[in-house]
Formats: sequence, C-alpha cells, structure tokens
Amino acid sequence: MDDSLGLKFLSSLEFALLERRGQQRYKFYGLVPEFYPMLFPNDADGKTCCSPWDYSSMLEYFLLDAEEFFEAGPSVGEKVSSGIWLEPNPKTNEDLPLVAKAIQLQDHQLITIQVIQEEYAERVRILRKARLELVERRKISSALDSFKKKALYDSMTKLYNRGSFMEILQEQIEKFGAYSPTMSILIIDVDNFKKVNDTLGHLVGDSVLVQVADILRTSLRKNDYPARFGGDEFTVVAPDTNTEQSHKLAEKLRHRIQAHNFNTGDIPVTISVGYTIYRAGETIQNVLRRADKALYDAKQMGRNVVSFRDPWMIDDEEVNAV
Ligand code: GH3
Ligand code: MG
Repeated sequence: MDDSLGLKFLSSLEFALLERRGQQRYKFYGLVPEFYPMLFPNDADGKTCCSPWDYSSMLEYFLLDAEEFFEAGPSVGEKVSSGIWLEPNPKTNEDLPLVAKAIQLQDHQLITIQVIQEEYAERVRILRKARLELVERRKISSALDSFKKKALYDSMTKLYNRGSFMEILQEQIEKFGAYSPTMSILIIDVDNFKKVNDTLGHLVGDSVLVQVADILRTSLRKNDYPARFGGDEFTVVAPDTNTEQSHKLAEKLRHRIQAHNFNTGDIPVTISVGYTIYRAGETIQNVLRRADKALYDAKQMGRNVVSFRDPWMIDDEEVNAV
C-alpha cells in the first residue's frame, strides 16, 4: 500500500487506516485525519504509530477483540466492529463518536477508524442519556422500595409495625368485613417483661422480644398478619377465623411461648392473650378496644392465660361511643 489518492480521500472523510504487521504491530497509512492527532500524538513523519492503543482507550479496548479476531484466521471479507465509541476529546470536552472495524481484506489485516456522522452521534448521546436516566430512576426506585420496607416493618422484630398493622386491618375489614365477620383479632402482651429488663438488662429483653416475634411468625398461617404493636405488645389479624379457632390459636401461642427456652434463667417468659371477633360494620378502633379489654381481663386473671370478649355483648362504654 502507499499514500494513494484513495487514502488521501479517505482521510478527508475522517477515516484512519491501520495495517497489521504482526502481533500488536500496526502501521498507519494515509494522511492524519482531523480527529487523529487527538488520539495519537504526532509522530515525526505524521504517518506511523507503532502502538496506537497507548493513546486511546477506545483502541486499547478494541484491539483486544481485533487481535483475537486476526489470530483466529478470519476468512476474506470478514469483519468485527467496535460498536459506537465516544472518545473524550480533552481539548473541547466533547465526546468524539468513532467506530473501529477490523477487516480481513485478501491477505491484508486492516483496522479502520471512522468518525461517525453527527446524526448517529446524536442518537448515541440520546440513548446514553436515556440509559443514565433509567439507571438513576432504578436507583431512586430501589431506595424507595427500601424506604417503604423500613416504613412497613418494625426494625427489631421484622414484624409489621403498628402503622402497617392498622392499614392491614382496615384493608381486611373492607375486603371481608361486611360478608364474613369471622375475622379474629388478638392482642398479646409479655407478662412481667419489666422484670426481664430490670434483672437481665435491655439486650436480653430485646432478644426475648425477637424470639417471641419468631414464634408468632412460625406459628401462624400464611394469611394471618402478626405485628409488633409497640413495646412488649403484639397483635395478630387472623382472617376467616371463628371464636373456637381463635381460642385454639391463642392457646397454641401461649403454650409455645411457655415451652420455649428463652435463656432467661429463673425468670419465666409467658404471654397473656386477649382476643375477639370483628363485628361487621364496626370501626377498627372499636374492635381493638375490645381486644385490649380482653387482654386486660387476662392480666387480671393472673397472666399466662387467654381471654375472650364477645363482640355481641356491647358494654356501656361502647354504647356511649356509638
Ligand atoms: P405486664 O405483665 O402487666 O404486661 O407487666 P410488664 O412488666 O410486662 O409491663 P408492661 O407490659 O407495661 O411493660 C413493658 C415494658 O417493656 C416496659 C418497657 O421498658 C419495655 N420495653 C418496651 N419496648 C422495649 C424494647 O424494645 N426492648 C426492651 N428490652 N424493652 C422494651
Ligand atoms: Mg407486658
């Protein structure tokens, strides 16, 4: 090859040509296109550059592919392309859109580098901007997800917190309340929990609460919702559960807690449970108040017991509240 008219013409189109002379050895042909000095500091004759990849991250990256392609012994006419590459131009602070291709042409192994047309470059910029925006949005949405999760769960026990429990209860009431008033609500409180804290310290207290939460979680059905209501108090919404089933559930929980070894030495860990059934049409405050009264009854009965409040026995306080 020589500096033919063809090559001069190609360079005027901003087209560079490298011929492979051996492993990682290339010779540059033609005039230096306008973009070229930026990629390759000018050699003495302005024509050769023995290791052009030292000057361009695009070429360094692409040459790995090109070398592999040539070493594999491509057939005539076979090509491999770099895709569109935005080479940073340190002078203008703009990206120069280039495409490199490795081509087997008869017995010549060539690499061409070409500045691509502005419209393509614009398309690349738009795509890149869209991609960055998408990445940004993903970041935001995953941050939102984790925020939502944090807002839903109690950080210590990983059960639903009070706020999400109230929402779940409201949802369940709207979903089933009018048709199937056999939804059960339990309020569970650890007995004499202050003694655990006072004698063994808050860390042991925390660990007891976590273990109670784990027992609740593993003892309930998939559609039941356990939550930490606050302090040592837990709640459960159990849809499609009648009085008898609620009683069994409350007793099951009480037994499991009593039988569990909490590693609290002489201090027993037990729970009291108050439970009731949702009465169609009533507010969540009303049903919770009744469950709380049932819990109070259980504490009055001496603790480590379960107690039921009948939804059909409306007491004076409820009459006044209605
Ligand atoms: P009772 O049988 O009447 O329920 O007696 P109790 O000692 O359990 O009394 P109460 O339920 O009123 O006490 C709850 C205690 O739980 C008071 C508070 O210091 C403690 N507590 C609340 N939140 C936490 C917590 O996150 N970790 C620990 N370790 N203790 C907590
Ligand atoms: Mg308590």
